[in-house]
Amino acid sequence: MAAQTVQWEHGLLQVKLPLPFALKSVNSYVLTEPAGGYTLIDPGLRTEETLAAWEEVFANHSFAPEQITRIVLTHQHPDHYGLAGHFAELSGAPVLMSRRAHRYAKRLWGADSTMTEELAALFALHGMPQRYIDEISSNLSSFHEKVSPQPLQDQMIYIEAGETLELGGSQWELLDAPGHAYGQLCFYEASKKWMICGDQVLPRITPNISVMPGEEINPLGDFLASLDHLSEYEVLRAFPGHYDSFTTFASRIAEIKQHHVERLEQMLVMLEEPLTGFEVCGRSFGARAQQSPHQHRFAMAETLAHLYELEQSDRISRTERAGIIYFFK
Ligand SMILES: [Zn+2]
Repeated sequence: MAAQTVQWEHGLLQVKLPLPFALKSVNSYVLTEPAGGYTLIDPGLRTEETLAAWEEVFANHSFAPEQITRIVLTHQHPDHYGLAGHFAELSGAPVLMSRRAHRYAKRLWGADSTMTEELAALFALHGMPQRYIDEISSNLSSFHEKVSPQPLQDQMIYIEAGETLELGGSQWELLDAPGHAYGQLCFYEASKKWMICGDQVLPRITPNISVMPGEEINPLGDFLASLDHLSEYEVLRAFPGHYDSFTTFASRIAEIKQHHVERLEQMLVMLEEPLTGFEVCGRSFGARAQQSPHQHRFAMAETLAHLYELEQSDRISRTERAGIIYFFK
């Protein structure tokens, strides 16, 4: 896939970069800085195809990676963060992200990361057979090369919710957007009513909400609360991490919330009998869950997010039998 670009007013360029997943592309945003240079938001996953797409964008828009003055990340997922270190190395530009997002990136891909083992233990506890865990573990390990080289500690500048960041000559308010990725930031420009929303609000698909080892215990609850917070902002155009920009921010938030309410209700009905997380995943996602190890991990972790939300709101309980957790109403 060649890179597709959309030029917006105020020097904002949307760049659709290829992804080797069911989700075909990820959006990067390039902002022209009035003082010279460019800010790059979410540079994409490190693959040969993505690098070729960037070459094409640099050629078509007459700028070079050396002119990048800042690399800004909405969040630490590999399809957004993967090329941050590469472009930091080429340009000498700093990498801006929240401290929490960076901490999580290091937990995932640091030299002493135990995330794969922790995730394997979590999924085993929730009844996933070992053969699927093995597939998921090797798929997760394959991401290391797609996020390398990683930004060095002295290239990092931490930005946090509540602060304002000047991007492309405009003031953007940084908003905390947890649930999909803890530490994720959305960027709101109040005069134009634009929102760069990362993966928190997406058109066409609902953002993946995953229970991950060592993170908060109720990502779905936190995500739903974050959607309520974001819905307080008037947004005329939203620039998401995937798919096209959209003008229906408020109604899209309502649809995403409704999706989760319905899925929670469906799971509640299933749990008339005790089931493991793996069993609930199979009944909720069917064959789709097992299309690839990547999909399977998302489906399993998303199922757990719903079960944890049901548990946190006292609608279900858990019991443990022979080292495996069962949920029931
Ligand atoms: Zn993401």
